[in-house]
Amino acid sequence: MYRTCAFCNGKLDGDGGPTDLGVGRRLAFDEWKGRLWVICPRCSRWNLAPLDDRLERIEALARAAADGRVAAATDHVALIRWHGYDLVRVGKPRRLELATWRYGERLRARRREQLKFVVPMTVAAVGLAVAVNVAAGGSVGVFVWNTPRLVRRIYVEMVGRRKVVLVEPPICERCGSVMLLRARHLERARVTTTAREGMALLLTCPSCGAEGTMLTGSDAQFALRRGLTYLNLARGGRQRAEDAARLVEGAGGPHQLIHDVARRELTLRSLAPDRRLALEMAVDERAEVEELERQWKEAEEIAEIADGMLSSDPGIDEELRRLRERLDQKKEGSG
Ligand SMILES: [Zn+2]
Ligand SMILES: [Zn+2]
Repeated sequence: MYRTCAFCNGKLDGDGGPTDLGVGRRLAFDEWKGRLWVICPRCSRWNLAPLDDRLERIEALARAAADGRVAAATDHVALIRWHGYDLVRVGKPRRLELATWRYGERLRARRREQLKFVVPMTVAAVGLAVAVNVAAGGSVGVFVWNTPRLVRRIYVEMVGRRKVVLVEPPICERCGSVMLLRARHLERARVTTTAREGMALLLTCPSCGAEGTMLTGSDAQFALRRGLTYLNLARGGRQRAEDAARLVEGAGGPHQLIHDVARRELTLRSLAPDRRLALEMAVDERAEVEELERQWKEAEEIAEIADGMLSSDPGIDEELRRLRERLDQKKEGSG
């Protein structure tokens, strides 16, 4: 197996885990078509694994995947976390159990990001406070004690000011102004669904305050994520990952949760904190798995051509057929 990405020449990460490929931390496979890819950590393109021993490797991967946790899934793609590996199962739909979530881990990652900012800022601010206090002859203790809270407020403010840059800036239907959105403007946005485009976001115009436009598709998803990240930071309260996870499970998965929220017609700001966190997690996981589905379609096109050219061994078709039959029997057996 190659060690570098065929598309960007970057170094592939991981050791291939159950596949024995010796490389790969994010692995995609299609049991039905007998495909196996290593996903590049740098450019996200899918590198097709050589044909030798591919079927055994796929079987090993499928066994591991059955053991892992499904983080999110579309009809054709499931993202499964297994011992630090991301396994992406593509192809024929399977009955999926959306039981467990990696919410805790995601929250920790966010806290780490926040700490990177808070810690250096605190050090700088404390240094400044000490200098000011010494100069003024004041009490250092009070100043230092107040610092982390101040730094946190600066951080929240910074996230709130992040621009929400869309392909085309939306225009308010009421007042005609171009909406230059920042994350904090999404406080009053509402999630809704449309028959044709799925999830959509109704935006309140920063200029006139009216509900002036509706975003759909990836714009809606992107803006919603920005807004939720800000709100969950600014008005988080005591959120717990487990509670959020339970809410998503209770709703019947990320898709259902998004629909539930849409039905209630509440602004993002007026959602309960744990529900808002659950919504953010659901939207994040959906976005990740949808991106994987897009990449898979492209990778599959290449694989079909590449395998067709490389497969000089007539035995491989026979082997594939046998594998399919075995899988079908297994599926029927398990219900
Ligand atoms: Zn690459
Ligand atoms: Zn307006």
